[in-house]
Amino acid sequence: MKAETKILHAHYPLEDPYGALNMPVYHTVAYEFQTAAQMELAFTGKSPEHVYSRITNPTVQYFEQRVKAASGAADAIAFNSGMAAIANVLIATARAGGNIVTSPHLFGNTFSLIAYTLKDFGVEPRFVDLTNIEETAGQIDENTCVVFLEVITNPQMEVVDLKALSQVCREKGVPLVADTTVVPFTAFRAADFGVDVEIVSSTKYISGGATSLGGLVLDHDSFDWQRSPKLRAVVASPGASAFSTKIRREIHRNLGACMTPYAAQAQINGLETLALRYERATRTCRELAARMRELPGVVSVNYPGFEGHPCHATSLSQFGEFPGAMFTFDLASREACFQLIDRLQLIRRATNLFDNKTLAIHPASTIFGTFTEETRQQMEVSQQTIRISVGLEDVTDLFDDFKQALA
Ligand SMILES: *Cc1c(COP(=O)(O)O)cnc(C)c1O
Repeated sequence: MKAETKILHAHYPLEDPYGALNMPVYHTVAYEFQTAAQMELAFTGKSPEHVYSRITNPTVQYFEQRVKAASGAADAIAFNSGMAAIANVLIATARAGGNIVTSPHLFGNTFSLIAYTLKDFGVEPRFVDLTNIEETAGQIDENTCVVFLEVITNPQMEVVDLKALSQVCREKGVPLVADTTVVPFTAFRAADFGVDVEIVSSTKYISGGATSLGGLVLDHDSFDWQRSPKLRAVVASPGASAFSTKIRREIHRNLGACMTPYAAQAQINGLETLALRYERATRTCRELAARMRELPGVVSVNYPGFEGHPCHATSLSQFGEFPGAMFTFDLASREACFQLIDRLQLIRRATNLFDNKTLAIHPASTIFGTFTEETRQQMEVSQQTIRISVGLEDVTDLFDDFKQALA
């Protein structure tokens, strides 16, 4: 079966006592047992019952199982935000004295987590140009814990050749971890391009229109964790990798950033329309971005789906006709950007990606507003750039709003 079908028809692990067709919200902290012996089995992981909702919860587990079925991952683990998912993966794999090889083109909090938070614990950040495979290979050594990237960076809109990079990672024995938030697994099979671990902010497409925060870690079980100095010693649970065992048994429950059952239920519903919404929003994005190029005052439009974009060929080979519902464009100055944003009447002034409504933001003064100008330059976040997250509106209505705002 295709992912779209699996998403709709995966069954509950146990029958619901009322025959509910939608997964109920199991809003409970604890679960009761009949005997002390049954408690012991459940608490020591020898039987599958839930014991405490920070560790597992029926609604959250069902969400994980649907994602697993739809994505083809060996395991899917849910968190209460995309950042929690990223933090769990990096804390599970990195150690003091080790390093993380990544690009300076990162989501602001991810950059800060690697450049500052983890650095304070002795993990060295190594920022490189990941599109330069040779330079990247030269930065990977025996202390490299992971190579981390985003599949389409924003606002730079850079796409790295995953097959080439993953080959280097394989040779060096380092796992390739990718944040695939901007292209969902219904449209892009990251494992086919050598990604070992996928991270998704399910706050974005999956939540179904900004209903809730959430994060996912998808373990493709393609990396030999015997090659990881940190995870080599982990005794894996039956049917799980050393990596997902380390997260489920230790990091996830110790950090406590578990998904709530309300968020899980909202996101189960979001999953059911994911492929439809993605296709529609991406088509609109391509057309809108193309029409924006003709407007006076627009200096350039940045979308990897365009021929002539420096990453077009790589984008086409990885994402086909659907490289995400996000584009950026440049105006002459920061003042011109602010003026345009202030004049928008339909498009909303807000952060977030892949709401059902189209959103506009000036990244340099907001998401990246607390970094120094020097760091912003390292990250190539320009004061002239506006980022658009395209929603489900009619394309002409969106274009008309830009037209009147620029007039
Ligand atoms: C939003 C986002 C995140 C962080 O996700 P949250 O759910 O907000 O914590 C990480 N990576 C990318 C690419 C994002 O767009």
